[in-house]
Amino acid sequence: MYTLFISDLHLHESRPQITRAFFHFLHAQTHDLEALYILGDFFDAWIGDDDDAPLNTQVASKLKQLSQHGTRIFLMHGNRDFLLGEKFATDSGAHLIAEGTVINLYGCPTLLLHGDNLCTDDQDYINFRQQVRSPQWQQQILAQPLAARRALAAQLREKSQAMNSLKAEDILDVAPDEVVRVMREAGVARLIHGHTHRPARHALIITGEPAERIVLGDWHDQAWAITATQNKIELINWDI
Ligand code: MN
Repeated sequence: MYTLFISDLHLHESRPQITRAFFHFLHAQTHDLEALYILGDFFDAWIGDDDDAPLNTQVASKLKQLSQHGTRIFLMHGNRDFLLGEKFATDSGAHLIAEGTVINLYGCPTLLLHGDNLCTDDQDYINFRQQVRSPQWQQQILAQPLAARRALAAQLREKSQAMNSLKAEDILDVAPDEVVRVMREAGVARLIHGHTHRPARHALIITGEPAERIVLGDWHDQAWAITATQNKIELINWDI
């Protein structure tokens, strides 16, 4: 049996090769896949579950097939797709999980985050995050007609090139102190997150004990995943 983690696919109609790579990845899995965790920025943008764009329905249907074969699927919000809701989750046979969920991964308590909350050095971003994660702001956006939300999303994409960039150098890295703080608070020796587009395994010492932070990569020329079994955990990548 094994478990997979992915994040930051940034699925978008303008990047069909990524969608194809994702479907190929799903098809390549065996019945031994117990659980698939998607840790945010799965979609490059999400304007509401009522958006019936072909990409959204195709992705939901592929995930649903996987869930029907017995794989449990978990979705966490990222900073791009935080409006993703229960309808899409249900259509996908998936469960939405909260940022900061701790799972028991084959005996090892593992903290799961998208990762943007660790970038505490970027005050502008922290303010923006606070705004867009507030239920009032979200309700206000979702109350607008679909066409208006589509226009708003397109406008936001154009407006702030840096904020919409997928290049690692345009995304601030995590604040090391914040990593230690959240891992201590959660009482874990392992953290898995994405967001920074800086895939790596980092050895840490938390409260005098060895610990590890594993960072998933975004999908562009390469695809990234973490595969975990009872015996080992690996960060893997392959060409798209
Ligand atoms: Mn992100």
